[in-house]
Amino acid sequence: MFKAIHTFLLPLLVCLALFSAGSTAQETAAAAAAMAGLPNVMGVRVTATPDRARLVIDLADKTEFALVSLSGPDRLAIDVRAATFTVPEPVVEVTEAGVISQYEVQQAGPDRVRTILTLSAPAQVQQAYVLAPFEDQPARLIVDIIAATPAEFAANVAKDAVASVTPAPAVDSSTPAGGSELPIATRPLVVIDPGHGGIDSGAEAPGGIKEKDIVLAFALKLQQLLVDSGRFDVALTREDDTYLRLEERVALARANKADIFISIHADSFQQPEIRGASVYTRDENATDVLDKVLADKENRTDVIAGFAMPQMAPEVVDILLDLMRREMRHQSYTLAQSIVHQLEASVELRRFPVRQADFFVLQAPDVPSVLVELGFLSNTDDMANLLQGEWQGRTAEALARGISSYFDGMVAPE
Ligand code: ZN
Repeated sequence: MFKAIHTFLLPLLVCLALFSAGSTAQETAAAAAAMAGLPNVMGVRVTATPDRARLVIDLADKTEFALVSLSGPDRLAIDVRAATFTVPEPVVEVTEAGVISQYEVQQAGPDRVRTILTLSAPAQVQQAYVLAPFEDQPARLIVDIIAATPAEFAANVAKDAVASVTPAPAVDSSTPAGGSELPIATRPLVVIDPGHGGIDSGAEAPGGIKEKDIVLAFALKLQQLLVDSGRFDVALTREDDTYLRLEERVALARANKADIFISIHADSFQQPEIRGASVYTRDENATDVLDKVLADKENRTDVIAGFAMPQMAPEVVDILLDLMRREMRHQSYTLAQSIVHQLEASVELRRFPVRQADFFVLQAPDVPSVLVELGFLSNTDDMANLLQGEWQGRTAEALARGISSYFDGMVAPE
Protein backbone atom coordinates (compact mmCIF):
# COMPACT_ATOMS: atom_id res chain seq x y z
CA MET A 1 0.00 0.00 0.00
CA PHE A 2 2.78 2.41 0.87
CA LYS A 3 4.67 1.46 -2.20
CA ALA A 4 1.74 2.11 -4.48
CA ILE A 5 1.71 5.78 -3.52
CA HIS A 6 5.17 6.15 -4.96
CA THR A 7 4.95 4.00 -7.98
CA PHE A 8 1.46 3.82 -9.39
CA LEU A 9 1.80 6.92 -11.52
CA LEU A 10 5.32 6.34 -12.67
CA PRO A 11 5.93 3.00 -14.38
CA LEU A 12 5.59 4.29 -17.94
CA LEU A 13 7.83 7.24 -17.37
CA VAL A 14 10.38 5.28 -15.41
CA CYS A 15 10.80 2.56 -17.96
CA LEU A 16 11.02 5.05 -20.78
CA ALA A 17 13.57 7.29 -19.16
CA LEU A 18 16.51 5.94 -21.07
CA PHE A 19 14.79 4.99 -24.28
CA SER A 20 17.35 5.81 -26.92
CA ALA A 21 16.55 8.25 -29.67
CA GLY A 22 19.42 6.93 -31.75
CA SER A 23 19.93 4.14 -34.30
CA THR A 24 16.48 4.45 -35.75
CA ALA A 25 17.34 5.10 -39.37
CA GLN A 26 17.36 1.41 -40.23
CA GLU A 27 14.04 0.89 -38.50
CA THR A 28 12.50 3.72 -40.48
CA ALA A 29 13.87 2.34 -43.70
CA ALA A 30 12.69 -1.16 -42.84
CA ALA A 31 9.21 0.10 -42.09
CA ALA A 32 9.06 1.96 -45.38
CA ALA A 33 10.24 -1.09 -47.30
CA ALA A 34 7.77 -3.39 -45.62
CA MET A 35 4.84 -1.09 -46.14
CA ALA A 36 4.64 -1.82 -49.85
CA GLY A 37 3.64 -5.44 -49.27
CA LEU A 38 1.42 -5.01 -46.23
CA PRO A 39 -2.12 -6.40 -46.28
CA ASN A 40 -5.27 -4.40 -45.56
CA VAL A 41 -7.70 -4.94 -42.71
CA MET A 42 -10.96 -5.84 -44.42
CA GLY A 43 -13.27 -6.21 -41.45
CA VAL A 44 -13.44 -6.22 -37.66
CA ARG A 45 -16.08 -8.04 -35.59
CA VAL A 46 -16.66 -8.53 -31.91
CA THR A 47 -18.96 -10.99 -30.22
CA ALA A 48 -19.28 -10.75 -26.46
CA THR A 49 -20.97 -12.48 -23.55
CA PRO A 50 -20.74 -11.53 -19.86
CA ASP A 51 -17.69 -13.74 -19.34
CA ARG A 52 -15.92 -13.89 -22.69
CA ALA A 53 -15.54 -12.22 -26.07
CA ARG A 54 -14.00 -12.89 -29.47
CA LEU A 55 -12.44 -10.33 -31.77
CA VAL A 56 -12.01 -11.32 -35.41
CA ILE A 57 -9.97 -9.15 -37.76
CA ASP A 58 -10.25 -10.07 -41.45
CA LEU A 59 -6.98 -9.54 -43.32
CA ALA A 60 -6.04 -9.61 -46.96
CA ASP A 61 -3.09 -11.78 -45.91
CA LYS A 62 -1.33 -13.11 -42.81
CA THR A 63 0.55 -10.48 -40.82
CA GLU A 64 2.11 -9.76 -37.44
CA PHE A 65 0.22 -8.46 -34.44
CA ALA A 66 0.77 -7.15 -30.91
CA LEU A 67 -1.49 -6.80 -27.87
CA VAL A 68 -1.43 -4.69 -24.72
CA SER A 69 -3.66 -4.07 -21.71
CA LEU A 70 -4.24 -0.44 -20.73
CA SER A 71 -5.93 1.13 -17.75
CA GLY A 72 -7.79 4.38 -17.22
CA PRO A 73 -10.14 3.54 -18.98
CA ASP A 74 -9.58 -0.21 -19.09
CA ARG A 75 -8.86 -1.32 -22.64
CA LEU A 76 -7.17 -3.93 -24.74
CA ALA A 77 -5.33 -2.58 -27.78
CA ILE A 78 -4.48 -4.85 -30.70
CA ASP A 79 -2.20 -3.69 -33.49
CA VAL A 80 -1.77 -5.54 -36.77
CA ARG A 81 0.89 -4.68 -39.30
CA ALA A 82 -1.30 -3.55 -42.16
CA ALA A 83 -1.42 -0.75 -44.69
CA THR A 84 -4.95 0.48 -44.08
CA PHE A 85 -8.45 -0.61 -43.18
CA THR A 86 -11.88 -0.67 -44.75
CA VAL A 87 -14.69 -1.09 -42.24
CA PRO A 88 -18.17 0.43 -42.48
CA GLU A 89 -18.04 1.96 -38.97
CA PRO A 90 -14.73 2.65 -37.21
CA VAL A 91 -16.42 3.06 -33.81
CA VAL A 92 -18.98 0.47 -32.77
CA GLU A 93 -20.96 0.25 -29.52
CA VAL A 94 -21.40 -3.37 -28.52
CA THR A 95 -25.04 -3.78 -27.64
CA GLU A 96 -24.83 -7.31 -26.24
CA ALA A 97 -24.21 -7.25 -22.47
CA GLY A 98 -20.63 -8.43 -22.23
CA VAL A 99 -17.06 -7.68 -21.24
CA ILE A 100 -16.59 -5.31 -24.20
CA SER A 101 -18.69 -2.16 -24.44
CA GLN A 102 -17.18 -0.57 -27.52
CA TYR A 103 -14.51 -1.11 -30.14
CA GLU A 104 -12.73 1.34 -32.36
CA VAL A 105 -10.55 0.79 -35.42
CA GLN A 106 -7.94 3.42 -36.24
CA GLN A 107 -4.90 3.97 -38.43
CA ALA A 108 -2.11 4.07 -35.84
CA GLY A 109 0.69 4.67 -38.32
CA PRO A 110 1.63 4.08 -41.94
CA ASP A 111 2.20 0.38 -41.25
CA ARG A 112 -0.33 -0.48 -38.61
CA VAL A 113 -4.02 -0.61 -37.87
CA ARG A 114 -5.15 -0.54 -34.26
CA THR A 115 -8.29 -1.94 -32.69
CA ILE A 116 -9.09 -0.67 -29.22
CA LEU A 117 -11.56 -2.67 -27.14
CA THR A 118 -13.12 -0.75 -24.27
CA LEU A 119 -13.78 -3.14 -21.41
CA SER A 120 -16.85 -2.99 -19.21
CA ALA A 121 -15.20 -5.43 -16.78
CA PRO A 122 -11.60 -6.59 -16.26
CA ALA A 123 -10.62 -9.04 -18.98
CA GLN A 124 -7.56 -10.65 -20.49
CA VAL A 125 -6.49 -12.34 -23.68
CA GLN A 126 -6.83 -16.10 -23.46
CA GLN A 127 -5.33 -16.79 -26.86
CA ALA A 128 -4.57 -14.96 -30.11
CA TYR A 129 -3.55 -16.43 -33.45
CA VAL A 130 -3.57 -15.72 -37.16
CA LEU A 131 -5.29 -18.11 -39.57
CA ALA A 132 -4.13 -18.41 -43.17
CA PRO A 133 -6.70 -17.79 -45.93
CA PHE A 134 -8.84 -20.89 -46.38
CA GLU A 135 -11.20 -21.54 -49.32
CA ASP A 136 -13.35 -18.38 -49.50
CA GLN A 137 -12.29 -17.18 -46.04
CA PRO A 138 -9.70 -14.40 -45.79
CA ALA A 139 -6.76 -14.53 -43.39
CA ARG A 140 -7.96 -13.73 -39.87
CA LEU A 141 -6.58 -12.68 -36.53
CA ILE A 142 -8.62 -14.32 -33.78
CA VAL A 143 -8.37 -12.91 -30.25
CA ASP A 144 -10.23 -14.74 -27.49
CA ILE A 145 -10.84 -12.71 -24.38
CA ILE A 146 -11.95 -13.98 -20.99
CA ALA A 147 -12.98 -12.28 -17.78
CA ALA A 148 -10.17 -11.51 -15.32
CA THR A 149 -9.99 -10.34 -11.74
CA PRO A 150 -9.08 -6.67 -11.18
CA ALA A 151 -5.72 -7.84 -9.82
CA GLU A 152 -4.98 -9.95 -12.90
CA PHE A 153 -5.87 -7.06 -15.16
CA ALA A 154 -3.70 -4.62 -13.19
CA ALA A 155 -0.80 -7.10 -13.34
CA ASN A 156 -1.16 -7.34 -17.14
CA VAL A 157 -1.16 -3.55 -17.48
CA ALA A 158 2.00 -3.30 -15.38
CA LYS A 159 3.72 -6.18 -17.20
CA ASP A 160 2.97 -4.70 -20.63
CA ALA A 161 4.25 -1.32 -19.52
CA VAL A 162 7.57 -2.81 -18.49
CA ALA A 163 7.91 -5.18 -21.44
CA SER A 164 7.07 -2.68 -24.14
CA VAL A 165 10.13 -0.49 -23.94
CA THR A 166 13.81 -0.63 -23.12
CA PRO A 167 14.10 -1.12 -19.39
CA ALA A 168 15.86 1.67 -17.54
CA PRO A 169 18.12 1.20 -14.56
CA ALA A 170 16.36 1.28 -11.22
CA VAL A 171 16.20 5.05 -11.03
CA ASP A 172 13.66 4.84 -8.23
CA SER A 173 15.79 2.61 -6.03
CA SER A 174 16.17 5.48 -3.58
CA THR A 175 12.45 5.36 -2.86
CA PRO A 176 12.10 3.92 0.62
CA ALA A 177 10.20 0.66 0.72
CA GLY A 178 8.04 1.85 3.59
CA GLY A 179 7.76 5.57 3.17
CA SER A 180 5.23 8.06 4.36
CA GLU A 181 1.54 7.68 3.71
CA LEU A 182 1.38 11.34 2.78
CA PRO A 183 2.31 12.10 -0.79
CA ILE A 184 5.68 13.80 -0.88
CA ALA A 185 5.33 17.36 -2.14
CA THR A 186 7.54 17.78 -5.18
CA ARG A 187 7.66 20.71 -7.51
CA PRO A 188 7.23 20.21 -11.23
CA LEU A 189 10.52 20.29 -13.12
CA VAL A 190 10.68 22.76 -16.00
CA VAL A 191 13.58 22.30 -18.42
CA ILE A 192 14.40 25.41 -20.44
CA ASP A 193 16.53 24.91 -23.50
CA PRO A 194 18.25 28.01 -24.84
CA GLY A 195 18.76 27.16 -28.52
CA HIS A 196 22.14 26.85 -30.18
CA GLY A 197 25.38 27.74 -28.34
CA GLY A 198 29.13 27.47 -28.79
CA ILE A 199 30.13 26.86 -32.39
CA ASP A 200 26.47 27.14 -33.46
CA SER A 201 25.42 30.80 -33.22
CA GLY A 202 21.93 30.29 -34.62
CA ALA A 203 20.54 33.25 -36.52
CA GLU A 204 22.74 36.31 -36.86
CA ALA A 205 21.80 39.94 -37.40
CA PRO A 206 23.93 42.89 -38.50
CA GLY A 207 26.12 44.24 -35.73
CA GLY A 208 27.21 40.83 -34.49
CA ILE A 209 23.91 40.05 -32.76
CA LYS A 210 23.57 36.30 -32.33
CA GLU A 211 20.51 34.23 -31.54
CA LYS A 212 22.46 32.04 -29.09
CA ASP A 213 23.21 35.04 -26.84
CA ILE A 214 19.69 36.49 -26.96
CA VAL A 215 18.01 33.20 -26.08
CA LEU A 216 20.45 32.41 -23.26
CA ALA A 217 19.85 35.81 -21.62
CA PHE A 218 16.11 35.30 -21.99
CA ALA A 219 16.21 31.74 -20.61
CA LEU A 220 18.08 32.91 -17.52
CA LYS A 221 15.41 35.58 -16.94
CA LEU A 222 12.63 33.06 -17.32
CA GLN A 223 14.38 30.65 -14.98
CA GLN A 224 14.64 33.36 -12.34
CA LEU A 225 10.94 34.21 -12.59
CA LEU A 226 9.88 30.56 -12.32
CA VAL A 227 12.19 29.84 -9.40
CA ASP A 228 11.01 33.01 -7.61
CA SER A 229 7.41 31.84 -7.91
CA GLY A 230 8.32 29.01 -5.54
CA ARG A 231 6.30 26.66 -7.65
CA PHE A 232 8.86 25.04 -9.92
CA ASP A 233 12.28 23.49 -10.10
CA VAL A 234 13.97 24.83 -13.21
CA ALA A 235 16.93 23.39 -15.10
CA LEU A 236 18.63 24.82 -18.16
CA THR A 237 20.16 22.60 -20.84
CA ARG A 238 22.99 25.13 -21.04
CA GLU A 239 23.85 28.02 -18.75
CA ASP A 240 26.66 29.44 -20.81
CA ASP A 241 27.93 29.56 -24.37
CA THR A 242 28.23 25.79 -24.74
CA TYR A 243 27.39 23.70 -27.77
CA LEU A 244 24.97 20.83 -27.13
CA ARG A 245 23.71 18.31 -29.64
CA LEU A 246 19.94 18.22 -30.09
CA GLU A 247 19.83 14.68 -28.77
CA GLU A 248 21.64 15.74 -25.59
CA ARG A 249 19.02 18.43 -24.97
CA VAL A 250 16.20 15.88 -25.32
CA ALA A 251 18.07 13.32 -23.19
CA LEU A 252 18.59 15.80 -20.37
CA ALA A 253 14.86 16.45 -20.10
CA ARG A 254 14.01 12.76 -20.27
CA ALA A 255 16.66 11.51 -17.87
CA ASN A 256 15.47 14.01 -15.27
CA LYS A 257 11.82 13.22 -15.95
CA ALA A 258 11.02 16.83 -16.73
CA ASP A 259 7.38 17.82 -16.53
CA ILE A 260 7.77 20.16 -19.47
CA PHE A 261 10.51 21.12 -21.95
CA ILE A 262 10.67 24.58 -23.51
CA SER A 263 13.19 25.36 -26.22
CA ILE A 264 13.80 29.08 -26.75
CA HIS A 265 14.73 30.52 -30.14
CA ALA A 266 14.80 33.75 -32.14
CA ASP A 267 15.51 32.59 -35.66
CA SER A 268 15.44 34.34 -38.99
CA PHE A 269 13.41 33.99 -42.15
CA GLN A 270 14.35 34.96 -45.66
CA GLN A 271 11.22 37.13 -45.67
CA PRO A 272 12.11 40.09 -43.43
CA GLU A 273 8.45 41.15 -43.09
CA ILE A 274 7.57 38.08 -41.02
CA ARG A 275 7.53 38.96 -37.35
CA GLY A 276 6.05 38.13 -33.98
CA ALA A 277 6.26 35.40 -31.37
CA SER A 278 4.98 31.88 -32.00
CA VAL A 279 4.97 28.55 -30.19
CA TYR A 280 5.62 25.27 -31.97
CA THR A 281 4.68 21.72 -31.16
CA ARG A 282 6.06 18.78 -33.07
CA ASP A 283 4.31 17.37 -36.08
CA GLU A 284 5.71 15.82 -39.26
CA ASN A 285 3.38 18.09 -41.20
CA ALA A 286 4.46 21.69 -40.82
CA THR A 287 1.80 24.40 -40.55
CA ASP A 288 3.18 25.98 -43.70
CA VAL A 289 6.23 25.81 -45.91
CA LEU A 290 8.12 28.47 -43.94
CA ASP A 291 7.71 26.43 -40.77
CA LYS A 292 9.15 23.41 -42.54
CA VAL A 293 12.14 25.44 -43.70
CA LEU A 294 12.63 26.67 -40.14
CA ALA A 295 12.54 23.17 -38.62
CA ASP A 296 14.84 21.77 -41.32
CA LYS A 297 17.33 24.52 -40.57
CA GLU A 298 17.15 23.92 -36.81
CA ASN A 299 17.58 20.18 -37.28
CA ARG A 300 20.84 20.82 -39.13
CA THR A 301 22.50 22.40 -36.12
CA ASP A 302 24.34 19.15 -35.38
CA VAL A 303 25.74 19.16 -38.90
CA ILE A 304 27.19 22.63 -38.29
CA ALA A 305 29.13 21.17 -35.37
CA GLY A 306 30.37 18.22 -37.41
CA PHE A 307 27.89 15.61 -36.19
CA ALA A 308 25.53 13.55 -38.29
CA MET A 309 22.03 14.83 -38.89
CA PRO A 310 19.86 13.56 -36.01
CA GLN A 311 17.30 10.91 -36.86
CA MET A 312 13.71 11.14 -35.74
CA ALA A 313 12.50 8.13 -33.81
CA PRO A 314 9.83 6.35 -35.84
CA GLU A 315 6.37 7.27 -34.69
CA VAL A 316 5.32 3.70 -34.15
CA VAL A 317 7.76 1.70 -32.09
CA ASP A 318 5.18 -0.15 -30.10
CA ILE A 319 1.66 0.39 -28.92
CA LEU A 320 2.40 1.93 -25.56
CA LEU A 321 5.06 4.24 -26.87
CA ASP A 322 2.77 5.35 -29.65
CA LEU A 323 -0.11 6.00 -27.26
CA MET A 324 2.25 7.92 -25.03
CA ARG A 325 3.41 10.06 -27.94
CA ARG A 326 -0.18 10.90 -28.75
CA GLU A 327 -0.86 11.89 -25.17
CA MET A 328 2.32 14.02 -25.12
CA ARG A 329 1.28 15.74 -28.34
CA HIS A 330 -2.00 16.60 -26.75
CA GLN A 331 -0.30 17.98 -23.64
CA SER A 332 2.29 19.85 -25.70
CA TYR A 333 -0.49 21.50 -27.63
CA THR A 334 -2.24 22.48 -24.40
CA LEU A 335 1.02 23.97 -23.13
CA ALA A 336 1.51 25.92 -26.37
CA GLN A 337 -2.01 27.30 -26.11
CA SER A 338 -1.50 28.34 -22.47
CA ILE A 339 1.69 30.19 -23.37
CA VAL A 340 0.19 31.89 -26.42
CA HIS A 341 -2.84 32.91 -24.41
CA GLN A 342 -0.58 34.81 -22.00
CA LEU A 343 1.72 36.19 -24.69
CA GLU A 344 -1.27 37.56 -26.58
CA ALA A 345 -1.85 40.39 -24.15
CA SER A 346 1.82 41.33 -23.91
CA VAL A 347 3.62 40.99 -27.23
CA GLU A 348 3.25 40.94 -30.99
CA LEU A 349 2.33 37.45 -32.21
CA ARG A 350 2.57 35.80 -35.58
CA ARG A 351 -0.64 35.02 -37.36
CA PHE A 352 -1.82 31.58 -36.08
CA PRO A 353 0.76 31.65 -33.29
CA VAL A 354 0.35 27.98 -32.26
CA ARG A 355 2.23 26.19 -35.02
CA GLN A 356 3.53 22.77 -35.93
CA ALA A 357 6.78 21.63 -37.48
CA ASP A 358 9.05 18.62 -37.24
CA PHE A 359 11.64 19.90 -34.77
CA PHE A 360 13.94 17.13 -33.59
CA VAL A 361 14.38 18.79 -30.20
CA LEU A 362 10.64 18.29 -29.50
CA GLN A 363 10.64 14.54 -29.98
CA ALA A 364 10.67 13.25 -26.37
CA PRO A 365 7.78 10.77 -26.17
CA ASP A 366 7.34 11.29 -22.43
CA VAL A 367 7.83 15.06 -21.91
CA PRO A 368 5.40 17.70 -23.20
CA SER A 369 7.67 19.86 -25.38
CA VAL A 370 7.28 23.20 -27.12
CA LEU A 371 9.61 25.50 -29.00
CA VAL A 372 9.09 29.23 -28.51
CA GLU A 373 10.19 31.58 -31.26
CA LEU A 374 10.40 34.87 -29.40
CA GLY A 375 10.57 36.77 -32.66
CA PHE A 376 12.75 36.91 -35.74
CA LEU A 377 16.17 38.49 -36.04
CA SER A 378 15.40 39.00 -39.72
CA ASN A 379 12.74 41.58 -38.81
CA THR A 380 13.99 44.96 -37.61
CA ASP A 381 11.08 45.60 -35.20
CA ASP A 382 11.45 42.16 -33.64
CA MET A 383 15.19 42.62 -33.34
CA ALA A 384 14.75 45.94 -31.55
CA ASN A 385 12.38 44.26 -29.09
CA LEU A 386 14.63 41.27 -28.53
CA LEU A 387 17.44 43.58 -27.46
CA GLN A 388 15.29 45.63 -25.12
CA GLY A 389 15.25 44.76 -21.41
CA GLU A 390 11.69 45.91 -20.82
CA TRP A 391 10.37 43.74 -23.67
CA GLN A 392 12.39 40.76 -22.50
CA GLY A 393 11.03 41.09 -18.96
CA ARG A 394 7.43 41.47 -20.11
CA THR A 395 7.71 38.48 -22.42
CA ALA A 396 9.40 36.29 -19.83
CA GLU A 397 6.63 37.16 -17.35
CA ALA A 398 3.97 36.23 -19.90
CA LEU A 399 5.74 32.92 -20.56
CA ALA A 400 5.96 32.20 -16.84
CA ARG A 401 2.22 32.89 -16.48
CA GLY A 402 1.51 30.58 -19.41
CA ILE A 403 3.54 27.81 -17.78
CA SER A 404 1.75 28.33 -14.46
CA SER A 405 -1.67 28.23 -16.05
CA TYR A 406 -0.74 25.03 -17.89
CA PHE A 407 0.04 23.36 -14.56
CA ASP A 408 -3.15 24.78 -13.02
CA GLY A 409 -5.06 22.96 -15.73
CA MET A 410 -3.10 19.74 -15.16
CA VAL A 411 -4.44 19.33 -11.60
CA ALA A 412 -6.36 16.09 -11.78
CA PRO A 413 -9.95 16.40 -10.60
CA GLU A 414 -10.63 14.35 -7.46
ZN1 ZN B 1 17.14 28.77 -33.40
